[in-house]
Amino acid sequence: MLRFARLLFFAAIFPPTLALAQTRPIVLKASTVLDGKGHTLFNTIIVVEGTKIANVGGAAPAGAITYDLTGLTITPGWIDTHSHLYWHFNNGRLAGKDEPPTQAILHAAENAVLTLNAGFTTIQSPGSPEDKDLRDAIARGIIPGPRILTSLEPLTEQSGPPEKLRELVRERKQQGADFIKLFASKSIREGGAQTMTDAQLQAACGEAKSLGLRTIVHAHSAESAKAATLAGCTSIEHGAYVTDEVFDLMANHGTYYDPNIGLVLQNYLDNKEKFLGIGNYNEQGFAFMEKGKSIVLDTFKRALKHPDLKIIYGTDAVAGAHGRNAEEFIVRVRDGGQDPMAALLSATSLSAESLSLGNVTGSIAPGMDADIIAFDGNPLQDVTAARRVLFVMKAGKVFVNRLQESSSHSAR
Ligand SMILES: [Zn+2]
Repeated sequence: MLRFARLLFFAAIFPPTLALAQTRPIVLKASTVLDGKGHTLFNTIIVVEGTKIANVGGAAPAGAITYDLTGLTITPGWIDTHSHLYWHFNNGRLAGKDEPPTQAILHAAENAVLTLNAGFTTIQSPGSPEDKDLRDAIARGIIPGPRILTSLEPLTEQSGPPEKLRELVRERKQQGADFIKLFASKSIREGGAQTMTDAQLQAACGEAKSLGLRTIVHAHSAESAKAATLAGCTSIEHGAYVTDEVFDLMANHGTYYDPNIGLVLQNYLDNKEKFLGIGNYNEQGFAFMEKGKSIVLDTFKRALKHPDLKIIYGTDAVAGAHGRNAEEFIVRVRDGGQDPMAALLSATSLSAESLSLGNVTGSIAPGMDADIIAFDGNPLQDVTAARRVLFVMKAGKVFVNRLQESSSHSAR
């Protein structure tokens, strides 16, 4: 009882962020490590000190806390470069503006927990002003969730002429945006034609670059993707109708391609009754989304034929999809024919690089943040293993530890 009282006392005087700082080193015993850079390490240890990976394969320090992850497959925490963490259902329908803000933020926090528990330790949210408080609360360590990068409110062709767009880019930076999200085309349901002019794209992406901000651009048609690429924007999102000529252009410019082929359309169709009748979610739109699945799959297969094209890992997760972000990996490999190692690199180091976090996360190496997850099974050999995350560490703190649930593990 006295001990319990003392614990309460310590919990009261030390704020949670301090409690997170792990003073004892952690050792992860591993039989298989996919390091996120294309290497596979066998029978080694990963030493974590504080929030960082101290070394891989070195000696275990004295007094370390050890997690035995042998029998599992260890990878860096996965990254979703396009997740709408704020989108959620309330009472079985897509939540809208009439929802009380207290309910909205708690649903968003729930999505953050689901996403982290699925092994995604970093996400990029292309646009919701409410992201900022959630991002900051997670960064303070008071809510479990992935590291969040957000654009806050996106910009569109209606945001104003080029000079106004430059001003809005500066304003977003002031407001705390991590990057800029632009809508350069219509939705896939409306054909995806270019909406922002070339001059608007040049102004927005040029201004962002001069401020050190990345730009991610919703662009479906080849014309809109081409214009964004020539304007020096960082990545093309969706790109359902991008041609081979424009894929070559993107590869030459180092423009990232973020197809979303494995989760978003499937999720809309699975949850049709929760969206139907809201905004442009009508029967016609759903009929198109059914066809859209094969359109985006074919485009993805063509993209794979451009070896220099940097294909990153975004799902476009909306309400109902959070926590199932690994479905994208399964569809890319199983249906798209992507090499499983390439798909893994896309979800780890390549996406980290695209977020300018290549020296922070996305690989298992000394000095990197200790974002480390483990699967029951090897996703490179059995794609469905991507659904079986048994261990999640983010920045040195263990959030998920379901080791006893591993059949292969306990058999050893
Ligand atoms: Zn989106």
